[in-house]
Amino acid sequence: MAAQHVPATPDNFNVWFVYSMGVPSDLQRAIDILIGNRCKFDANVNRDLFSTYVAAPDGSAASLASQQLHSVMDAAQVFLATAIADNHAQMRAIHDVADQGQAGSDPKLLVQQLMSELAKAASRATKLEASFADKTRELEAIRENLSKSEERARTDTLTGLPNRRALEEFFRKAQIAAMEQGEPLSLLMLDIDHFKKFNDSFGHGVGDQVLRLMAQVLRDKVREVDLPARYGGEELIAVLPGADLSAAAVIAERVRRSIAECQITRRSTGETLPSITVSIGAAQFQPGEAMGDLVERCDRALYLAKRNGRNRVVAETELDREIAAV
Ligand code: GH3
Ligand code: MG
Ligand code: MG
Repeated sequence: MAAQHVPATPDNFNVWFVYSMGVPSDLQRAIDILIGNRCKFDANVNRDLFSTYVAAPDGSAASLASQQLHSVMDAAQVFLATAIADNHAQMRAIHDVADQGQAGSDPKLLVQQLMSELAKAASRATKLEASFADKTRELEAIRENLSKSEERARTDTLTGLPNRRALEEFFRKAQIAAMEQGEPLSLLMLDIDHFKKFNDSFGHGVGDQVLRLMAQVLRDKVREVDLPARYGGEELIAVLPGADLSAAAVIAERVRRSIAECQITRRSTGETLPSITVSIGAAQFQPGEAMGDLVERCDRALYLAKRNGRNRVVAETELDREIAAV
C-alpha cells in the first residue's frame, strides 16, 4: 500500500489485506494489472476496488479477509503469550541454580553472575511484554477498522439503514429461526406516494432529506427485534420476526400514521413542505418459501394500496378478497 501511495483507510486496508493473502482472485488480478499499467491508485480507483471486489453482494472477500485476520490475531496472541511464559520459566530456572549454588565456586562470584543473568532475562521479558502489548493494540485497531469496514458494506449510505445485502442476511437467519421455532415472520414494504412529483417540485436534494426522514421514522417505529432496511430507490422494507400478519398490519399502521403526521420543513428556507405519505404492503412468511416469493406478495399488497388510493396499509389477505370479488 505504501509503495502505491494508497491511504491506510479501513476500506483500502480491507482490499489490500485480501490482495496480500496471495490467494489467486479477481481482486489480485485487477491490482496486478493496475500496478503493471502504472495506474495511480486514486480515490476513485480505491473506491471501485472496494465496492467491486470486497463489498460485492456475496460478501465472500470481506468475510474471508476478516476471518483470516481474526485467526492471524488469535495465533499471534497465543504465540506471544507463550513467549512470555517461556521467558518467565527461564528466570525461574536461573533462580533455581542460584538456590542450589555450586560446590567449590566462589559464592560471591556465583551470586554476581546469577544476578547479571537474572537482570538480562528480566530485561528481555520486559521488552517482550512491551512489544506484546504494542502488537495487541495494533491488532485490535486493525480488527476494529475491519469491522467498521464490514459494517459500511452492509449499510445504505443515504439513509444509514441496513442495505439489501444486510436485509438478505437477516432474512435468511429469521427464516430459519421462524421454521425451527414455529414462530410467525412477516414483511412490510413501504413506498413513498407521488415521490416523483415531490422530487420534481422541490428538487432531488430535498427528496433525499425526505427519504432520510422516512428511514428514521421506520427505524423508530419498528421493534428492537425487527430489521428496517432500504430495499432500493424509495422503497423501504421491514422484517418482523415473531409477528403474524395482523401484528404486522398494526406495526405498519403505526409507521404510516407517524409518517403522515410528520411536518417537513425545508432547512434552507424554513418553508413548510406538503406532507408526505406512504403506502405499505404486508405479507406473512410461509414456511419453506423463498424470500423473493414473500417480497413479491408484499409488493402486490403494496400496489393494491396504491390502487386503493395510497396512504394506506394493505395486508396480503386483501389480495385474495380482491381476486374473489373479480
Ligand atoms: P407512487 O405513488 O405510485 O409510488 O408514485 P411515485 O412517483 O413515488 O412512483 P415512481 O416509482 O414512479 O417514482 C419513484 C420516484 O422515486 C422516482 C425517483 O425519482 C424517486 N427516487 C428513487 N430513489 C430516490 C433517491 O434516492 N432520492 C430521491 N430524492 N428520489 C428517489
Ligand atoms: Mg417506487
Ligand atoms: Mg413511490
